Amino acid sequence: MGLVARVGCVLCSRHMGINDTPAQVHHMKLGTGASDRASDFLTIALCPEHHVGALGVHKLKEHGIYLRYKCSEIDLLADTVSGVNDLLYNTGVRASTSTEGVS
Ligand SMILES: [Zn+2]
Ligand SMILES: [Zn+2]
Repeated sequence: MGLVARVGCVLCSRHMGINDTPAQVHHMKLGTGASDRASDFLTIALCPEHHVGALGVHKLKEHGIYLRYKCSEIDLLADTVSGVNDLLYNTGVRASTSTEGVS
C-alpha cells in the first residue's frame, strides 16, 4: 500500500491546496454492518488529522464529510486513484524512492 500513502492527503490537496502531505491509508467501509474491511483497492490517502483527527473521516462520518468538505468518500477515492495513476504513469512528476540503492 506504499503507493497510496505516497499520493499524499487528498483532503489537504482538495480542501486546502496543499499537496504531498504525508498520508496514511484509510480503508473505505462499504455497506452497513460489515465487519470486514473493504478491498485494499478501496483505500484513500489521508493525513493523520484528516484520517483519525477531530476533522477526520472517522470522526465526521460520511454526512459530516459532505457538510464540511462538500464531497463524499467516493470523491476522495477518485482523487486517490487519480493520484496513484499519476505516480505510476507520469514518470518524473514525483521521484520514485522504491529503487533506493539500485544504480
Ligand atoms: Zn490532510
Ligand atoms: Zn481509516
